[in-house]
Amino acid sequence: MLQKFPALRSLLASCCLGLFTLPVVADTGLNLIYQSPADSEERQIRQRLMQSPEVRQLVVMVNENFRLKRSLSLVFGAEDGPLYDPEQGQIWLPYSFMQQVEQRFNSDSHYQPQLDGEGISVETATMDALMHTLLHELGHALIDMHQIPVLGREEDAVDGLATLLLIEQFEEGGEIALSAADLFYLEGEEIELFEDSDFWGEHSLDLQRYYSILCHVYGSDPEKYEAIVRDAGLTDDRAVGCIAEYEQLHDNWMALLKPGLKPDPEQTGLKARH
Ligand SMILES: [Zn+2]
Repeated sequence: MLQKFPALRSLLASCCLGLFTLPVVADTGLNLIYQSPADSEERQIRQRLMQSPEVRQLVVMVNENFRLKRSLSLVFGAEDGPLYDPEQGQIWLPYSFMQQVEQRFNSDSHYQPQLDGEGISVETATMDALMHTLLHELGHALIDMHQIPVLGREEDAVDGLATLLLIEQFEEGGEIALSAADLFYLEGEEIELFEDSDFWGEHSLDLQRYYSILCHVYGSDPEKYEAIVRDAGLTDDRAVGCIAEYEQLHDNWMALLKPGLKPDPEQTGLKARH
């Protein structure tokens, strides 16, 4: 059984905020940089990120499990992104990303501005989507640093890794991944007419990314996520395929990541299942 981090949502309810407002700085490994905010809205976003248990746990997860060949900075408030810059060894994420994600979730009635016992709050869904995005960019960094072979689209590969790391490393990680999937669904819904450039893109189409995450979450625990078959129209044949696909995703990433994991696997949460 994999060791998981404590439930993020219960941490949100009960954590001592003081612990999570400490700056996370490491000589090596993943460290955080917060750029100066341009206005009061960005200042609020920066504050939320600085106090976020999710961001803190992501950094701890990376530094406890991964042997990074060089230090990697996660730059919040970057000019561009989300992206991984291999030249500088930085993951860039602009504050505006958080605003855009929040706007998209606000446009969907399933997400409520405030928790009312039903659904997920916009704030939680936004943090969930951020987690998947940051782990996606971490995937690009790991591939670059450890020269991990990639067959097919790297963008699909790191989407799969982000979903896998959420599920295997974070309590209720499947739920976090489902919020991230919903963002792709909402983005996909906005497209009225596809252009050639959509099909030439490095990324799969938003709706394909949505269904891939659903497939992997379902495949990770078919009993728990049985509703996906019913609610998202997953056919029985594909559902069986998703179980095999998640197993393959897990085993192949574990094999590829092994040289880049910390030496004593007993001390890390990221271990092979078998
Ligand atoms: Zn990418």
